[in-house]
Amino acid sequence: MSESIFTKIINREIPATIEYEDEFTIAFHDIHPQAPIHILVVPKKEIQTLNQATEEDTKLLGHCLLIAKNIAKTRQIDESGYRIVINCNADAGQTVFHLHFHILGGHSLQLAMG
Ligand code: AMP
Repeated sequence: MSESIFTKIINREIPATIEYEDEFTIAFHDIHPQAPIHILVVPKKEIQTLNQATEEDTKLLGHCLLIAKNIAKTRQIDESGYRIVINCNADAGQTVFHLHFHILGGHSLQLAMG
């Protein structure tokens, strides 16, 4: 299977505005932001959807959530509030089949479902 568009970002084959990176994850600005702050946290391991995550990925998934929390704090939306979204498959509108966590914030999201 060919590499995902997010793997191309990880490998610097296509550009992105990178917010954070470590051995296991990368976080970058969404190209079509749905909120003033819209950042994607992506595990470097290519997991197509949440459905393909296994016990082996427990620590990785937890790590992604903690990275999301840290980014929210760095971007100063931790107190005002933010939403973390994982879209899984067609009905959720998943368009990139490489697991990712959306961080959405910077304004009120109460009327929007992300
Ligand atoms: P999802 O609908 O959950 O699969 O979300 C995929 C997200 O990736 C969408 O919000 C897109 O705007 C975003 N996206 C797609 N291509 C890129 C890219 N090259 N750089 C940054 N974000 C992207």
